[in-house]
Amino acid sequence: MALSGIEIFKLLPKTNCKKCGHPTCLAFAMKLAQRQASLEACPDVSEEAKKILGEASAPPVRPVTFGTGDKAVKLGEETVLFRHDKKFVNPCAFAIEVKDTLSDDEVSNLCGQVVNSEIDRVGQKLRIDAIMITNASGDAGRLEAAAKVVAAKAPGVPVIIYTENPQAAEAAIRLFADKRPILYGADASNAEAMAAIAKNNKAILGVVANGLNELSDLTEKVKGLGVEDMVIDSGARKAKDIIANNTLIRRAATKKNFKPLGYPIINFMQRPDSLYETLLAGIGVTKYASIVVMSSIEKWKNLALFTLRQNIYTDPQVPMQVEQKIYNIGEPKPESPFMITTNFSLTYFIVSGEIENSKVPCRLAVMDCEGLSVLTAWAAGKFTATKIAQFITDSGIEKEMANKELILPGYVAILSGSIEDKLPGWKVTVGPREANALPAFLKTRN
Ligand code: SF4
Repeated sequence: MALSGIEIFKLLPKTNCKKCGHPTCLAFAMKLAQRQASLEACPDVSEEAKKILGEASAPPVRPVTFGTGDKAVKLGEETVLFRHDKKFVNPCAFAIEVKDTLSDDEVSNLCGQVVNSEIDRVGQKLRIDAIMITNASGDAGRLEAAAKVVAAKAPGVPVIIYTENPQAAEAAIRLFADKRPILYGADASNAEAMAAIAKNNKAILGVVANGLNELSDLTEKVKGLGVEDMVIDSGARKAKDIIANNTLIRRAATKKNFKPLGYPIINFMQRPDSLYETLLAGIGVTKYASIVVMSSIEKWKNLALFTLRQNIYTDPQVPMQVEQKIYNIGEPKPESPFMITTNFSLTYFIVSGEIENSKVPCRLAVMDCEGLSVLTAWAAGKFTATKIAQFITDSGIEKEMANKELILPGYVAILSGSIEDKLPGWKVTVGPREANALPAFLKTRN
């Protein structure tokens, strides 16, 4: 049962010490009630209060770690229905289905695609996160054989074993027993046996039911059997049913704190038509799936889905930013060009990419403008002559430079005179307006 802000406030130390980053204990209590703060932020809360508040402040969608090591994926932990209320927490994982009816070479080839799927986009590593091995053959030995190929060819990649047959499940899941796999396929008919296998192998249990009523009964039953970590499937397969059920599950968990549906959702989007599959996967990304299973992972599809996922799981209230500092691109010498821009991630990665393309070693000063682009930061009074001059002076960069010359983005050419006034001895050169003109600009200066 969720506690109100006032009920939470009564359990806090009431010293208004501000260590939690809030001006008063009451303000912190209100944020806790809205699930916009974590109890850990208050270092002085008593053990007794922690116990009472722990349940109330736990995320309504249970956190579950899938896999181990640096490829482990955190699932769940979500607290809101709408991302304008608060950032969505853990990006959904993409999994490819590998059927055990495929030959070992075909399984091996798909593993290679997963291992090589990683791309770097605005500083984040994005990849296909998991492999689901499906017992399409119905044969326990074949499932185990396919699982052995996956274990050898995609080591470290989190694995889902999909079978309704406890005997087949047992043989395959034990290959990943220390790797936090998912055993998917528990339903009302086999829940006891599947729960026992999941427990023995420290696996997360994937439960499937026909609709939300059956699903909530099933998760309660499985919990009663001693399995806490689950991913849930309402059985929906049509787009409109997936949207409806995923939304109802998320709403029940976050708005009603309905624990039987407070688990990460797994959706199955495999379709013969790759474009339609991509569309369905996109629906899963935007509408509350924690795992989206697909039948293929073409590069074009990955790029579209990775970008969508990255955008959904950024904080809409906080622009993506990079650290304020002077970045060396290549191996700049004292006479190398010195440029400045703002710390909006996209600006930084586009500008630094174009400098790299030019093959001219440079220094790039990236100034903290709260993640705004050059023109926006200038219009907001965050990229001004005074602030730029202060940043350059404080950086001490002039000691490393042969000529005190600063190259300014063309969009803020208007600042050049006033920067020279505030930085005695410096020359300000106006660079191109668009980053794609940087290679030609830099080469003509060489
Ligand atoms: S850190 Fe704890 S005691 Fe201090 S203001 Fe925040 S809630 Fe109150």
